Amino acid sequence: MFGEQAYCTDCIRDLFLPFDLIDDDPTVEQVLDFVARERGINRYDENSFSAYQFPKPIGPEEQLDSERCGLCHRKL
Ligand SMILES: [Zn+2]
Repeated sequence: MFGEQAYCTDCIRDLFLPFDLIDDDPTVEQVLDFVARERGINRYDENSFSAYQFPKPIGPEEQLDSERCGLCHRKL
């Protein structure tokens, strides 16, 4: 979840992939760890940042059957 839009992990990875990490072909987790560290965000404390600053995972209660990725429109 980033802003008001849901994205699949592949698109989150592509959206946040820092130039420094391109050669390493990192996983989405590695990308988010890197970006969070750079921005001083504790991504494991979801209450410490807003979904407009940094993507949040979608909880099971928030996940809807009809929800699709905002970028590639793949079903989530
Ligand atoms: Zn996607």
